[in-house]
Amino acid sequence: MSDSVLVLNAGSSSLKYSLVDAASGAAAASGLVEQIGEASGVLTHHGPDGASRTAQPFPGHESALRAAMQAFSSCGPPLDSVGLSAVGHRVVHGGDRFSAPAVVDDDLVAAVTSLVPLAPLHNPANLSCIETARRLFPDLPQVAVFDTAFHQTLPPHAYTYALPSDWVEQLQIRRYGFHGTSYSFVARSAARLLGRPVEEVNLIVLHLGNGASAAAIEGGRSVETSMGLSPLEGLVMGTRSGDVDPALHAHLHRQHGWSVEDIDRALNRDSGLKGISGHNDFREVSQLRAEGDPRATLAFDVFCHRLRKYVGAYYAVLGTVHAVVFTAGVGENSPAARAASLAGLQRLGIAVDPLRNEGPERGARFVSPDDSDVAVLVVPTNEEWEIAQQAMAVVRRQA
Ligand code: ADP
Repeated sequence: MSDSVLVLNAGSSSLKYSLVDAASGAAAASGLVEQIGEASGVLTHHGPDGASRTAQPFPGHESALRAAMQAFSSCGPPLDSVGLSAVGHRVVHGGDRFSAPAVVDDDLVAAVTSLVPLAPLHNPANLSCIETARRLFPDLPQVAVFDTAFHQTLPPHAYTYALPSDWVEQLQIRRYGFHGTSYSFVARSAARLLGRPVEEVNLIVLHLGNGASAAAIEGGRSVETSMGLSPLEGLVMGTRSGDVDPALHAHLHRQHGWSVEDIDRALNRDSGLKGISGHNDFREVSQLRAEGDPRATLAFDVFCHRLRKYVGAYYAVLGTVHAVVFTAGVGENSPAARAASLAGLQRLGIAVDPLRNEGPERGARFVSPDDSDVAVLVVPTNEEWEIAQQAMAVVRRQA
């Protein structure tokens, strides 16, 4: 059996795909379909001969996935020649039903469908890719890897909102957490860098991409995380607000006549870095801040202040912390965000070494001084590789 896995990661209007060797993590090809459901769409495919770009409308995820398969045929590598062993699907919401990856069958499809109310933008896109891939590859095992699964170890005192108790059973209202595949990958890599088994280390991991969240990971198990019922709670993100006063919705509705849809859209799409500064991309915010732009400076400060609050809170949750770990686009690439969010925490044993922090290295590395009580690490995430590894582990167990 080969280690080749086709990894599919569908967002609400996008589809990322990658042909990954689960043993080495090498990607033989990858691509991105954007603006699905809009009047014009774009597919970019990176194959053995470089990148190719196709512009055409993609009415839904099925047409996007079929076009991606066409790109493999025309730009390579041809999928029938690579000996695919599985298709791995990232599925955003597995509710409290899935605490591990699972083989796709009719029951799984029904379960993921029943969870659509909890992830109305994402689970339908994931389901569309699952159904299409089952038709395209009827003889291949398909594995669903859930973003929420890693956080199913949260204890009740961490996942329970202080709300009427029947809301949990009747409405499934509780904290779930997301970015699970990234946390699983990064926790193992961080433990390797620390030279200790993952079961023996306590980590605060900060996944800072377009979406951002934090997790407290005790001995490899998630015990607290900043996203909750949905990926809106917690840290400041590119376009999402993160934490706000829950009375905000009632206030906007009563005083300003806003509808639930208006408020939901504003908090998810027009808030976060974009809301404060006008820019959702952290590189642009950083550039404008360097030029003295006051709104970009405020956005950066609010982002880092929120991070620092979560680091302090998760320190208290864990009691003992071996490392604070930065990952994803901002975490891996912004020395300024790392330094600002951890400044002044020496009393907690946390310090950033300026030379290491700003150095040109790229891989998993220490950015704290050698004598720090708590290591500060930068660990690149690789969600596609994690999905491929988890998919192959399930397939091998079944074989
Ligand atoms: P996604 O959540 O879409 O996977 P990524 O993990 O790719 O996102 O992170 C995207 C974010 O990382 C963007 O805000 C981008 O500006 C930021 N980023 C990428 N490179 C840099 C950099 N060199 N400096 C600062 N921010 C960066």
